[in-house]
Amino acid sequence: MATATQSLDEETFQILGDEIGWKIQLVSAEEEDKELLQQFDINLDEEELQDDKDLKPRPPVVTVMGHVDHGKTRLLDTIRKTNVIAREAGGITQRIGAYQVTVDLDGEARKITFLDTPGHEAFTAMRARGAELTDVAILVVAADDGVMPQTVEAINHAQAAKVPIVVAVNKIDVPGANPDKVRGQLTEFGLVPEEYGGDTMFVDISAKQNINVDKLLEAVLLTADAELDLRANPNMDARGATVEARLDKGRGAVATVLVQQGTLHVGDAIVAGTSYGRVRAMLDENGHTMEAAGPSTPVQVLGLTSVPTAGDLFLVASDDRAARQIAEKRQATERAAQLAKRRKVVSLEDFKKKFAESEIDMLNIVIKGDSSGSVEALEDSLMKIEVSDEVGIQVIHRGVGAITQNDVNLATVDKAVIIGFNVRPNRQVADLAEREGVEIKYYSVIYRAIEDIEASLKGMLKPEYEEVVTSHSEIREIFRSSKFGNIAGVMVQDGEVKRGTKCRILRNGVATVNDLEISSLRRFKDDVQSVKEGYEAGINLGTFNDIELGDIIETFEMREVERK
Ligand code: GDP
Repeated sequence: MATATQSLDEETFQILGDEIGWKIQLVSAEEEDKELLQQFDINLDEEELQDDKDLKPRPPVVTVMGHVDHGKTRLLDTIRKTNVIAREAGGITQRIGAYQVTVDLDGEARKITFLDTPGHEAFTAMRARGAELTDVAILVVAADDGVMPQTVEAINHAQAAKVPIVVAVNKIDVPGANPDKVRGQLTEFGLVPEEYGGDTMFVDISAKQNINVDKLLEAVLLTADAELDLRANPNMDARGATVEARLDKGRGAVATVLVQQGTLHVGDAIVAGTSYGRVRAMLDENGHTMEAAGPSTPVQVLGLTSVPTAGDLFLVASDDRAARQIAEKRQATERAAQLAKRRKVVSLEDFKKKFAESEIDMLNIVIKGDSSGSVEALEDSLMKIEVSDEVGIQVIHRGVGAITQNDVNLATVDKAVIIGFNVRPNRQVADLAEREGVEIKYYSVIYRAIEDIEASLKGMLKPEYEEVVTSHSEIREIFRSSKFGNIAGVMVQDGEVKRGTKCRILRNGVATVNDLEISSLRRFKDDVQSVKEGYEAGINLGTFNDIELGDIIETFEMREVERK
């Protein structure tokens, strides 16, 4: 039974469809959005149809990734400050989430666009929203530290996204730095330096002392030229992705977008996710106003009526009205999806219920902690919890740092519970979790977390029953009554017979029928509740009449066994 506003799963819909003669076809959110856009004459696949002659080279877009403290932020700072050719007074002053630098390569001035949020979390958050912005990844590895866990994660993310990697071996100024060791270590991950016959460019740098940073930028361009065909059509309506967005007291919603196709103009009507508006002004990373922004250009846009989310794709609509309608339709879809999700997501407390309905047998967990040590320790201990073969724990994601929007998204999709070990989400993320119905548990002592998780796993177990035999009675006489059927005249041999208990017939020591019930119990003419060992009684088994002299009626109860 489902109410009219309830969400159902695919299987139920299929059954319902068969029942009433309709064909059910589930469409993904993306397909639905595509259809919506088509109603406004926007075709996202149009790029594939573009004529070769319309395509012009565009600068590569670069993300800096690597282990914490290996120098990602410092490198981005250095590049920002020393942008040699296009040097403004004092370098790039504003932080808008992305910036462009100009590099001299063989006498040609070439541009590179940098996404200014280091780390692969931003990279995955974007990808999760469908924004594939990065063309080339710079992997920063500190020469005094070597390959570390997040180095490996970064490699995995980049390779999964098929993004070529340029390795920056950083901190070569530090005494004891060993760049060759880094080269050796990375070979195991398929990153073989060119000088060893591979195809990955390695550059030894010092982000702090600005050594070889120019060579690194050249390596990025050479890698992009060798491995990618970076071209876009500047002569079409712009589209791209939101890199960063916030609400500014004076200026309203401020979003940095990266144009991927086409050219964005002041005055364009745009939609970014569920936000819309008209481009009132555009600013570059130096705070200068711009009239137009072509492919690979990051630009700060003023004029949206609300703040989009980083990773939201943006596009230009034919006019303000179309932009508003697209955004409003998407808002409605999002609300509906949120409502549906809300019902699906579970909390530790209702795991028990869900599990009883056999919906879940794995407790999915996302662990975030203040240090990699604590996260590993917690994960190790959690994995050691053994409650039963029927339920288990699955850590679907772990990481160091605050609980992010990404974590909540993941927990929503995989119905997971988030464990924060000495870390908290910010307000926005906490609100999101609240809206999505994702449970976040906070701990600062490992054993508390273990106790809690263990308890909820036990709660997930279906109750286990065991059978307890409560009495045996021998049939010594059979009274045939037209009104009640056969009545067994018995002698209770052991235990106590109670009315209403389950019973079976043992004939010559073999259980013949198992699912009977003592439906009436009498001593002489009186109905009684129970009869003890050593007494005679009359037993009626309801509609079951197949009894013989000498049969034994064995009564039993199912008792819930407490799990240890
Ligand atoms: P991130 O966590 O990867 O962003 O690392 P940061 O950029 O914050 O750098 C971590 C620390 O290493 C900071 O104290 C930097 O000043 C320092 N650092 C970064 N690059 C270099 C370098 O090339 N040489 C030296 N000696 N220190 C560096």
